[in-house]
Amino acid sequence: MEFKLSFYNIVVQENADKVVIWNTKKGSVVELEQTVWSKLKNGDFEDKNIQPLLKALQKEGIVVVHDLDEVEEIIFRAKLRQFSNNQTSFGLVIAPTLSCNYHCPYCFEGDVKKQKEIMSAEVIDSIITALKDKFNKNKQIKHLRITWFGGEPLLTYDKVMVPLLEQVITLCKDKNIDFRSSIITNGYFLTEDKFEFLFLNHNVKYVQITFDGTEKEYALRKGTTVEAYHRVIKNILSLSQYLFSNNINAKIAIRLNVDNENYQDIKKFVTILRSNAKFHDNITFNLARLRQYDFCEELDSFSSTDEYEDILYDFENFTNKKPSIIEPKMVFCGQHCMNVFSVGPHGEFYKCEHDFGIKEHAVGNISTGLNYNKYFAEFMYQPLPEKCLRCQILPVCMGGCPHRRLMLKQNIECEHTIDHLKRSVIRYLKGGETNESHQRS
Ligand code: SF4
Ligand code: SF4
Repeated sequence: MEFKLSFYNIVVQENADKVVIWNTKKGSVVELEQTVWSKLKNGDFEDKNIQPLLKALQKEGIVVVHDLDEVEEIIFRAKLRQFSNNQTSFGLVIAPTLSCNYHCPYCFEGDVKKQKEIMSAEVIDSIITALKDKFNKNKQIKHLRITWFGGEPLLTYDKVMVPLLEQVITLCKDKNIDFRSSIITNGYFLTEDKFEFLFLNHNVKYVQITFDGTEKEYALRKGTTVEAYHRVIKNILSLSQYLFSNNINAKIAIRLNVDNENYQDIKKFVTILRSNAKFHDNITFNLARLRQYDFCEELDSFSSTDEYEDILYDFENFTNKKPSIIEPKMVFCGQHCMNVFSVGPHGEFYKCEHDFGIKEHAVGNISTGLNYNKYFAEFMYQPLPEKCLRCQILPVCMGGCPHRRLMLKQNIECEHTIDHLKRSVIRYLKGGETNESHQRS
């Protein structure tokens, strides 16, 4: 058999004797003697010192058969993941209203939030009917995931979330389907009276709440008050304590919107929260880069990819985040696949949560089914940009957010840089952690 080196080998470290290679397609990290690496680079696959290593090198993806088209393989796997009708999980992102009690100027939903309607009882019934039908026709489905989105979903707690969750949990028990849900919320209405229903009885496993810094920054950037900041902090800490005391395995993810101006304040915020006695390790902090999106102007304070990655690296050290290596993926996001759909307040379907409220981007309705229209085709079939086909980190990036690509007409700024990812691999190696897919040989 003839071989060649994988295009996706990235040298992350080397000295006179050794070289460390990260293969982004396999997610493997391999340490080799420089003498071996030189022979591989020269194509000396028949060499007597190389022959015994070939099987292991092939397993780690460092070496591939000579006629393998790695890019086509990646594209094929992506399409398989996108269009497979045999997935064991199904997901809905539900926006029971597009209305919100905050006015974050960077919110991609902008004027869409002025649509005040909330989901009706008829739409709730249609969701349950559609789920029953789905489970009856697709017996391989074993997991249902619902993400509550908005607007602010907790504005509809009594009228939509409670009745829908009650019916979904009964249906899933009946069909023997594992059900979990998550909420993307500003946290203002996440008060103690809701904890038992949501977290103990209805399998909410993940809550994401966004912050922009301490009280002044929060009030300014969210168009709200300092009192609102303190109320949300109180809700988060009470929830952290509740989950801890009741031994409930659910996470509170604090998303920290960062740009070049608020990073120091964000660090201050993290320190304040961590020092509270009710803070438990069910709270995690995730940095998120604020940047231009289809509905908002680019601001001077937005960070470039390089600037953001420097901030991210510093933040990971600051929070002592466990080092990890970004894993290869088949698609950038689940909503680019046929087993995840977003449902708006009127039951309208979308292929991405960033389309909520934009009528021209709807791709059907929960009561009538999917409409294979022009927007659906544009979103689902868009090819990867040329620059991604030539990129060594394509397997871990997959071209970035497909919605952004479509909206920005493929003029995309990269999600990652190779330099930052190499730095993360080195940090991981220094952390001394190993697991099966990251063996060194
Ligand atoms: S978006 Fe950039 S980093 Fe991602 S695959 Fe494309 S070229 Fe590579
Ligand atoms: S397509 Fe992009 S914006 Fe939409 S859900 Fe996926 S990552 Fe998010």
